[in-house]
Amino acid sequence: MKVDLHLHTKYSACANLELKTLRKLCKKNNIFPSITDHNSIEGAKRFKDCIIGEEILTKEGDLIGLFLNEKIKSGLSIEETVDKIKEQGGLVYVPHPFDWRRKCVKRLNFKMDVMEIFNGRVWQQSLNKKAKDYAKRKNIIMGVGSDAHIAPEFGKTYVEMDRFNSPQEFLKNLKKANLVTTKRSAEMQFRVNAISAFRKYLLKPLRIR
Ligand SMILES: [Zn+2]
Ligand SMILES: [Zn+2]
Repeated sequence: MKVDLHLHTKYSACANLELKTLRKLCKKNNIFPSITDHNSIEGAKRFKDCIIGEEILTKEGDLIGLFLNEKIKSGLSIEETVDKIKEQGGLVYVPHPFDWRRKCVKRLNFKMDVMEIFNGRVWQQSLNKKAKDYAKRKNIIMGVGSDAHIAPEFGKTYVEMDRFNSPQEFLKNLKKANLVTTKRSAEMQFRVNAISAFRKYLLKPLRIR
């Protein structure tokens, strides 16, 4: 099966992907989604046919919990967040670990299950490469995610792995997965920038008023 380990829906403040659009995209591309909204699991819960995840903003950057039942609050330390993920039987997934342009964690000396060695939104490919080299060197299980925030970003980055019935089986199968990645094109970069600028400068002020 194909799984996209990291993506956002409109339940993230910075994304606009509707659940019904995502459902169509998943069907079309035959991809099972792991929905990892920023500080919310509402979209994932509503979607149902997905891995319920959350991209949690810790004190020291973004960390993703996979296979969650309950939302984990932001603002905790990395260790506290890891504990909360583990209490729920979830997995710790480290997104875009070296992408300093975004809220990457500032250190990696904590217990993790999976490292994201390719993030579809990382513009500087050397940062993805750095993550891959690090995971290889430290023998950490590798994953990839589109980090899609809008529909055109979905469908090009995913893992091909055997089916799983539990987080443990997922991890075991992810070890032997085939990682499929596509670099973001300049045109896609332009679209993403345009959309985020539009949201930032036009939509946000309207919302405040
Ligand atoms: Zn975001
Ligand atoms: Zn993300």
